[in-house]
Amino acid sequence: MSKDNLRFNSKLIHGGQIPDKAFGAIVPPIYQTSTFKQDSLGVNKGYEYSRSGNPSRAALERSLTSIESGNFGFAFASGLAAIDAIMKLLNPGDEVISANNLYGGSHRLFTQIYQDKGVKFHFVDVGDPNNISPLINDKTKLIWIESPTNPLLHIVDIKKIANKSKKHQVLLVVDNTFASPYLQRPLALGADIVMHSATKYIGGHSDLVMGALVVSDESLANKLYFIQKATGAVPGAMDCFLALRGIKTLALRMERHCENARSVALFLESHPSVEKVYWPGLKSHPGHGIATSQMKDYGGVVSFVVQDDSREAVERVVSKFELFSLAESLGGVESLAAHPASMSHGAMTKQAREEMGVTDGLIRLSIGIEDKEDLIADIENALKS
Ligand SMILES: *Cc1c(COP(=O)(O)O)cnc(C)c1O
Repeated sequence: MSKDNLRFNSKLIHGGQIPDKAFGAIVPPIYQTSTFKQDSLGVNKGYEYSRSGNPSRAALERSLTSIESGNFGFAFASGLAAIDAIMKLLNPGDEVISANNLYGGSHRLFTQIYQDKGVKFHFVDVGDPNNISPLINDKTKLIWIESPTNPLLHIVDIKKIANKSKKHQVLLVVDNTFASPYLQRPLALGADIVMHSATKYIGGHSDLVMGALVVSDESLANKLYFIQKATGAVPGAMDCFLALRGIKTLALRMERHCENARSVALFLESHPSVEKVYWPGLKSHPGHGIATSQMKDYGGVVSFVVQDDSREAVERVVSKFELFSLAESLGGVESLAAHPASMSHGAMTKQAREEMGVTDGLIRLSIGIEDKEDLIADIENALKS
């Protein structure tokens, strides 16, 4: 049976994995080595130096390729290092059309590093894909989107945008971090590059920082491999081992994240001290229909606005949390709470933040895999304040 034809849950365990020839180890060993002995001049066993390739990284990259239904996968030292590798495909004068609802670190990299190097960025609301066409010209090289977005969980119609990118022969990149490959596979929807902060759901245990890219096209893969090797933002073997270990339980974790998120979202929606709830699984969410068509379930992140919509109200709530830790990041087994206005979006002006809907009273929850009754009790108690 070919491992390419496996169903998704089986791919998580077996996809891209090859038996260990040395001792039959079931788990790919951690090749904690910088270099590899050569048999003679120019003769090696497939690896020379761990920046250009390491067997632990290769095992992870084959797994990522399999679970994103692509042909080539690349692991990076962080999500931003993966994004940076994509940006290095561009030259001065090139133009990028990017979603305006964008991870803060991506926005910073685009506007504070690459814009100064001569790449032009157009930020638009890609919630309406028709906003893209008027901006496309011969200099346009890339369209950048994410779905669901951080922290308001807007949903972007990946297929519709892929139709435009293909028509104009522009690369479409989808940051798939919030969905994970379990919920959404952008390459199958027509994207050219799928990007992950593997720090989040892929790693899944809040114990590593890593990025990933998966593509189908071989010439694009060759360019990305050259950039990965030539610029060197690669993860170490131990982190690759941890990420591969995390992938094996991705389906089980995501099922529980989504189930718990649903209960929390419904609880929040009915709570008198909550003004607004953002979760794509709610019928009230404007992206619910598209999310249903392009995702398997609706994800483990729930955002909500507390009554008063003020920073003081948020302070009272988060100080009462016992299970939810106040922390950046998401996608781990434990529940976290974040305050986007002072954390991920703290560098923006209040006006710019509020224009995109990130008000002072917004709390973003990364729902973990604990018992949902305990999570709801924790939130209920905190909201009493
Ligand atoms: C965290 C995150 C990133 C950046 O990844 P790092 O691993 O922190 O470098 C990019 N995009 C999204 C949507 C993220 O949540």
